[in-house]
Amino acid sequence: MAREVRVRFAPSPTGPLHIGGVRTALYNYLFAKKMGGKMLLRIEDTDQTRFVPGAEQYIFNSLEWCGIQLDESPLHGGPHAPYRQSERKPMYMDYALQLVNAGHAYYAFDTAEELEAMRERLKAAKVATPQYNAITRATMKNSLTLPEDEVKRRLESGEPYVIRLKVPRKEEIRLKDMIRGWVMVHSSSIDDKVLMKSDGMPTYHLANIVDDHLMEITHVIRGEEWLPSAPLHVLLYRYLGWEDTMPEFAHLPLLLKPDGNGKLSKRDGDKLGFPVFPLRWVDPVTGEVSSGYRESGYLPEAFINFLAFLGWNPGTQQELFTMEELIEAFSIERIGKSGTRFDIQKARWYNEQYLRAKPDAELAQYLLAALPEQGIDCTPDRAEKIAGLMKERVTFPQDFWKEASYFFVAPTQYNEQVAAKKWSAAGAAAFEQFKNELSTLSDFNADTVKALLLQILERNGLKIGQVMQALRIALTGVEAGPDLMAIIEIIGRQETERRIDAALAKLAQYAA
Ligand code: GLU
Repeated sequence: MAREVRVRFAPSPTGPLHIGGVRTALYNYLFAKKMGGKMLLRIEDTDQTRFVPGAEQYIFNSLEWCGIQLDESPLHGGPHAPYRQSERKPMYMDYALQLVNAGHAYYAFDTAEELEAMRERLKAAKVATPQYNAITRATMKNSLTLPEDEVKRRLESGEPYVIRLKVPRKEEIRLKDMIRGWVMVHSSSIDDKVLMKSDGMPTYHLANIVDDHLMEITHVIRGEEWLPSAPLHVLLYRYLGWEDTMPEFAHLPLLLKPDGNGKLSKRDGDKLGFPVFPLRWVDPVTGEVSSGYRESGYLPEAFINFLAFLGWNPGTQQELFTMEELIEAFSIERIGKSGTRFDIQKARWYNEQYLRAKPDAELAQYLLAALPEQGIDCTPDRAEKIAGLMKERVTFPQDFWKEASYFFVAPTQYNEQVAAKKWSAAGAAAFEQFKNELSTLSDFNADTVKALLLQILERNGLKIGQVMQALRIALTGVEAGPDLMAIIEIIGRQETERRIDAALAKLAQYAA
């Protein structure tokens, strides 16, 4: 019987979760749910020197904001707890010793100076990549070169040591990647990786394999930067006798900078003009602030839809997918092999689509939330009408106030270019009449106002196209916006009159 699909997201809490990490988590989630399986979160915190306070909480908050639900984690618990590697520390040594006893790993006692001296020696001999490996290990201080009793003595006296994997000298290591197909690596290119550090902590490689095995992981879906480690992981599965249940691997293509030059990295921060983190992050040491998608006004559903398409596509024209639809459509086969360029315009487009799809009453809340700090009162009804008119013109929730402020506040400035080009004495005279006759309308709405305007323009021998832009800046100050008659209906008769009056006075200089 096929095993239940179990995947893991295994970040190290060394800083805020990068957008590429969120994509890795998302693909794991989509795959797990598609296959009716489980997803767990494991915190890989064996490198204590790189621990950053707040980073773990940030990971949880980010996944929650995205709607990525975990079945097992340090917070949710689960059958394989603990899910933090630092809390699993006592478990790893046994496996390292199993490898030593089987002759696949060994103790090494070399000091930092001795390791440095080896590297210098190899560099002087023009070795391109100086490393501790099948050849150089013979010249170093380890349990393969030292007499047995000396090894014993050193261990018993508490001398610091590491445990290294004994990588075979000449062997072709093959692994099948679900995205890339067969990957072949020669063992001579792999060094004798440290498995246990002198502080008794396992390294990433050992802890990762032991935990994936114990946690019954069936598929490892992770970034391409881990592909070079995969052959080593295959060796570990083999030497630990776990080859039968070795997970399948899928290494995701890199996220590239918008110009395609290199990987989009954490260090890009806000330098490229857009966030690289899901949520705002304040560095606990330097206080430096990095912006987040959430705080910039992205809706989580838009962010997720955008991320899903950074490396995957459904093979159809459809671009808008809810999380449920993504789960339904997702397959690892449709993940591309080559790096994906990051395109923030596409993220904005997604946000616009998701905003527009919301009911006006919900959009009105964004506006209503922004008004109190402006000292403005507004009924929910009115806010709903404004939101409905503006929704085709906004990218972010905060744009409702930015773009629609003229519904509440009369313009104090007018687009000068439009004024210079479109304001005319004839138009101004017609606006004056229009303003004076508004009070004759028994019913004040967009239709009656429009009929009145057309009537007045005809009487003055003017065409609507000649004056509309001028009237628009008189009422809103800006050159573009939704239907002007609808704006007039919302701002009301008296305010329309006041604004026309103000514009007639302030723009008189253009009425040549
Ligand atoms: N701890 C690793 C990371 O930070 C996990 C890599 C993997 O998924 O194996 O990305």
